[in-house]
Amino acid sequence: MGLQSLQIGIDPWHHCIVCEGCQCGIPHPSLHNHIMQSHGGPSKVPPNLQSILDEHQVPVEIHPPTSKVIPVSSLPIIPGFMCSVPGCGTASVVEASLAQTHGQVVHQDIPVQDHIVPSLVQVIFASQLCIPQSQHRLCISSRQDQRA
Ligand SMILES: [Zn+2]
Ligand SMILES: [Zn+2]
Repeated sequence: MGLQSLQIGIDPWHHCIVCEGCQCGIPHPSLHNHIMQSHGGPSKVPPNLQSILDEHQVPVEIHPPTSKVIPVSSLPIIPGFMCSVPGCGTASVVEASLAQTHGQVVHQDIPVQDHIVPSLVQVIFASQLCIPQSQHRLCISSRQDQRA
């Protein structure tokens, strides 16, 4: 029944889908494929999948909050980096991607490398979407479909 038997949960705070078995977050549009590919095929997909997600208010796309938040449950917290430019808070496990790619795209007018500081992060899923939290930084970046 439902998602629990697949070890897939929905974080009550962030409303994001977390697969405890795979230790990763799953974007809403990828959940069906994730169950198909990693959890036993079409017969494992709950027939009421959409209504489960609606019930838990899982958004199709997760946007980073503007204030600090708590960690997503069940996912590891690892060392990484964050951009400390006021109002930004973008996180990554790769310092160079913040200093170069992020800096070029978001902070063209400031020397962003001066604002990259070590921080704890959580890698959740694709698109480098990152959310700040009270003690750690959550980094949502590509993981979900790379599991063998
Ligand atoms: Zn999984
Ligand atoms: Zn930034």
